Amino acid sequence: MTSDIQQEISEQIESFYQAVKENWPGFKTRVGQEQMFAQIGQTLSHAKSPKDSRDGDHILVIEGKTGVGKTLGYLIPAIVFSKRMNKRVIISTGTVALQEQLIQKDLPALAELSPFPFEYALAKGRGRYVCNIRLEQVSGKTKQSALFEDANWDGPPKEKDIDHFANALNSLNQGQWNGEKDTAPPEISDSMWPRIAAERSSCLGRHCQRFNVCPYFNARRELVKADVIVANHDLVISTIASGSKILPDPSETLYVFDEAHHLPQVGIAHFASSVGLIASTRWLEKIMTAVLRADALLPESSGKIAEEIHDLVTDLIQHTKQLINSLRLSNFVTHDQAIHRFKHGELSEEFANEAQTMGPLAIALNNRVSKILQQLNDQRNNSIDKDSYSPAILEMGSYQAKTENLSNTWHLMQADANPPIAKWLEWQDLGSTFDFKLHASPISAAQNLAQSLWSTSSAAILTSATLRTLGDFKYFLNQVGLNWFPKTNTFEAESPFDYENQGTFVVPDMLACPSANSEGHTQELSTEIPNQLSDLRHGALVLFTSKKQMKQVYEDLPEEFLQDVLMQGDMPRSQLILQHETRVKQGHRSILFGMQSFGEGLDLPGKLCEVVVITKLPFAPPDSPIEEAKAEWLEKNQGNPFYEISVPAAALKLQQWVGRGIRTETDHATIVVLDQRLKTKPYGKKLMAGLPPFKRVM
Ligand code: SF4
Repeated sequence: MTSDIQQEISEQIESFYQAVKENWPGFKTRVGQEQMFAQIGQTLSHAKSPKDSRDGDHILVIEGKTGVGKTLGYLIPAIVFSKRMNKRVIISTGTVALQEQLIQKDLPALAELSPFPFEYALAKGRGRYVCNIRLEQVSGKTKQSALFEDANWDGPPKEKDIDHFANALNSLNQGQWNGEKDTAPPEISDSMWPRIAAERSSCLGRHCQRFNVCPYFNARRELVKADVIVANHDLVISTIASGSKILPDPSETLYVFDEAHHLPQVGIAHFASSVGLIASTRWLEKIMTAVLRADALLPESSGKIAEEIHDLVTDLIQHTKQLINSLRLSNFVTHDQAIHRFKHGELSEEFANEAQTMGPLAIALNNRVSKILQQLNDQRNNSIDKDSYSPAILEMGSYQAKTENLSNTWHLMQADANPPIAKWLEWQDLGSTFDFKLHASPISAAQNLAQSLWSTSSAAILTSATLRTLGDFKYFLNQVGLNWFPKTNTFEAESPFDYENQGTFVVPDMLACPSANSEGHTQELSTEIPNQLSDLRHGALVLFTSKKQMKQVYEDLPEEFLQDVLMQGDMPRSQLILQHETRVKQGHRSILFGMQSFGEGLDLPGKLCEVVVITKLPFAPPDSPIEEAKAEWLEKNQGNPFYEISVPAAALKLQQWVGRGIRTETDHATIVVLDQRLKTKPYGKKLMAGLPPFKRVM
């Protein structure tokens, strides 16, 4: 980028910023926000074109604590750069709350103040929109309904469900419902939704009779016009990995990942795969009827693919049933021992043999089913009577989604990767019945994110209030694969808070250590919490690492103290917070008891939270199969899972929990940690090094 263009962009950012300064209600100049403009501008000036190599100078990881004004800090430079460079901006969030804030508040306000016009829109995955055709079919309103039922219903649909679908169709046609899941009629439950969602494999696209009124394609048409697209991490990753066209090409996109600390988990979940063995035999038993119906519509077909599918399906059903029978007899997993993880990603002999047989069968089946689907589409495109192919395409499309999932899962079960794939079998309780569910998941998203995102994107900004752990960005960079991009920029924006004068950090002496004497610690909490809150006049937040301990402490607390306590789970979260706010506003004490979700996402400024009590350091035991597999892999490679996984993860959570105390420049709060290990264990110092510089009382 030439210095003239850079100068022009700097001037545009300055004039946009000036307009915001003068007109944004209650706007305050913040050093951290201005640092963000400069850092983001610097990184975006290194945005890449498709052929450029990428060593990381197009990426910035920037931590901005609460109060920095992060959203304006990235929106203003990103919008200016996108306009000047003719690229699109995708703002990806980890939560719906932030998406709503961007779409309903920040972007409309900025569009009013911007020196040049820009368009913005919200992108949702196609599964969040209804498919008109599928809805018509499950409503029983078309002659093809009977055909479609096979692929999507385990048994005949209930009368009541059909009525609900028919009412929803009516609302859609009358324009009373926009076709989005979030605004769907309440009778359409989460379990009913997949039957009418706009899935990729069964979509007829431009050839669909409802194409012009299709909610999903209408939303896509809006996105094409938008300069700024608000999306979520899951949609961004899945769009790139699947090659879907819903979002612009990465090489033409400037990404901003806000709440970027969610990226590692979202990345892992996206590349994982699972399949229910019993459920798969059910649809495998029905697929041939659909295949024969499709084959009959292909005049040039010799019937060879249908025959091959028949043989593959027969073998798959036989092997799956054998495996199910053997699992029933062996008690490998049971209702009480629901998970069996294959250590080091190595399957037992029986599973290894099955995987060796089932993997190629499932892959071959998916190839053949995809081929028939392709032939149907080609036939339809060359035909005058295009509509006559639609039911078969929809039906085969639904089965193709299932064969693809089966093939992916068995492929991953067979995979021998480094780091290893976490593989486990689960007894899945389905109420009156059960299934054996096979799972396979990468233990880190690093490789996949590096390949699919950082190596292809034009530029990317990753930001959040907590990205550093133990004082640096190393843990986060490793988790998302940015350690392989040596020129990745990192920066910590200056906080507007005067932590030393606004906050006090207290670690009182206690008798019981939570790890050595968990019961004693729980008992001590019931006296120490009231002690620490004896001078409290308004609101406080008490955070627990487990529901069991929270309930136990609650039961042991004195009656007069309990009058002021509101506990998570006793009523819906929004109601609980409202009661807390009302009590504080009326001049009463109010003490919220909560767990992890209260530690991360709760905003309680001013009097609403004058004291935060952290009852125990937030160490998460590596109890998920993915975490266990990761710890095992580190150990095998002479790593120390405790120091390399548990301590950084606890440090990240502790920062988030501590962050509940000071939310504005006028807040004052005391943070109390009732866990001696901060003072007695070697890692205690490391954990404290990552915290804001509060006045300390140890
Ligand atoms: S275009 Fe695709 S998603 Fe939309 S109604 Fe038609 S088949 Fe359904």
